[in-house]
Amino acid sequence: MSTIFEKIIAREIPAHIVYEDDLVISFLDISQTTTGHTLVCPKKAYASINDIPEDLLAHTIKVVKKIALACEKAFNVEGLNILSNNGAIAGQTVFHFHFHVIPRYVENDVLFKLTNRMNEVSSDEYKKRALLIKEAL
Ligand code: 5GP
Repeated sequence: MSTIFEKIIAREIPAHIVYEDDLVISFLDISQTTTGHTLVCPKKAYASINDIPEDLLAHTIKVVKKIALACEKAFNVEGLNILSNNGAIAGQTVFHFHFHVIPRYVENDVLFKLTNRMNEVSSDEYKKRALLIKEAL
C-alpha cells in the first residue's frame, strides 16, 4: 500500500508543492502548525531514518536547508524547528521518512520543549548510557 506522500508525489492527491527534484519533494504540511510548516521527503518511501540510504539522506537534509532559508526569506521567521518523528511512539503518523520544517515566530506558539531531566540522572548513569551508545556504534 502506498503512503499518502507517494500519492502526492504521483499527483493522485493535491498538495502545495514548493520544491521538487529527481529524488526529493517538499510541500506544505496540510496542518500548518505555524505559517509555512513544510515537509521534505525522499520520493522513494523509506519508513524511517534507519532505512534510508545515507547519500539520499544527505541530499534530503540539503533540501531541508534550502527550504529553511526560503522560509526565512518568505516569512518573518524568528527561528525554525527541524524535526523528524521516527516510529509511532515518537509521533510518526506517516511512515514515509520525512523532515518537518516548522518556522517559529513567537515564544510558545508551538509546544516544542524537551523535558529537562538534568537533575534526575546520576554521573554513573550518564557514563553508562554513553558507553552503551559508543559500544553500539
Ligand atoms: P508525522 O506525524 O509522520 O511526523 O508527520 C506527518 C505529517 O503529514 C503531519 O504533520 C500531517 O499533518 C501531514 N499530512 C498528513 N496527511 C497529509 C496530506 O494529505 N497532505 C499534506 N500536505 N500533509 C499531510
